[in-house]
Amino acid sequence: MRLSEELEKFRSEVKEFARTEIAPGAKQADQTMAFPAENVRKLAEQGFLGIMIPKEYEGLGLDTMHHLIVLEELSGVCGSTALTYAAHNSLCLNPIFNFGNKSQIEKYVPPLAKGEILGAFGLTEPEAGSDAGGTRTTFSENGASFVLNGSKCFITNGSVGGILIVTAKKAEAGRSKEISSFIVESSWPGFSVGKKEDKMGLRASDTASIHFEELPVPKENLLGQQGEGFKQFLKILDSGRIGIGAMSIG
Ligand SMILES: Cc1cc2nc3c(=O)[nH]c(=O)nc-3n(C[C@H](O)[C@H](O)[C@H](O)COP(=O)(O)OP(=O)(O)OC[C@H]3O[C@@H](n4cnc5c(N)ncnc54)[C@H](O)[C@@H]3O)c2cc1C
Repeated sequence: MRLSEELEKFRSEVKEFARTEIAPGAKQADQTMAFPAENVRKLAEQGFLGIMIPKEYEGLGLDTMHHLIVLEELSGVCGSTALTYAAHNSLCLNPIFNFGNKSQIEKYVPPLAKGEILGAFGLTEPEAGSDAGGTRTTFSENGASFVLNGSKCFITNGSVGGILIVTAKKAEAGRSKEISSFIVESSWPGFSVGKKEDKMGLRASDTASIHFEELPVPKENLLGQQGEGFKQFLKILDSGRIGIGAMSIG
């Protein structure tokens, strides 16, 4: 596929950024498993942490091709930085922008797009990997809040993310596959971080388990409608897979 002149120019700028700013620390970060916080700051400075978000919400207003070029070029020099970037954009920020209502977008999108806060997506559980319908994290209702209980594992940016999309089933739903999504802030009481994984690759990226114990989530933080979580995460994972393709090419 031939890229337009504009995209080719964009690629050469990103390639140069990746070569000079990201590549030098990559080997050491991989060996030491040190999270590349400085790279995150540099990505934010470039505007890449809000690459596809419109300018009115503090993004760069670019399209999926630009996002994939950034992902490919970052992956060419530091897979861990690339994965951190991909999870933030594809699994948290874009879903809030696409599925959120106006007040959720106004509250959460600008700080994420500016890179002031890193985003994450908590779907996988010890008993719910490929079959995410097996989700055991539950939510119940208590006045103006939902209350979350459960655990997620293998969450990219799980211990460094400030805003997470978390999936859960209604507590009394039994074996029903109806899943809902919530916007959760890691600073809320009842949120805790567990084990950080020691991986064979992408070692500097943050992969952690996270836990919710009687975690109150304001009702306005339900993403979309109750029961829409399954449909939402199929869409999130679809676009995420295109990103995994770009990472593999890089
Ligand atoms: C680096 C990394 C980052 C991740 N980041 C996130 C994240 O940010 N958020 C998140 O929610 N999750 C994340 N995950 C979790 C990831 O989505 C899961 O690992 C994935 O869904 C697979 O689940 P599992 O590991 O439980 O494997 P399993 O589902 O147990 O699968 C194990 C193997 O069995 C195969 N298999 C499973 N079911 C079937 C079947 N029915 N028929 C035939 N074969 C089958 C699979 O293909 C696989 O090879 C991450 C994982 C990794 C490794």
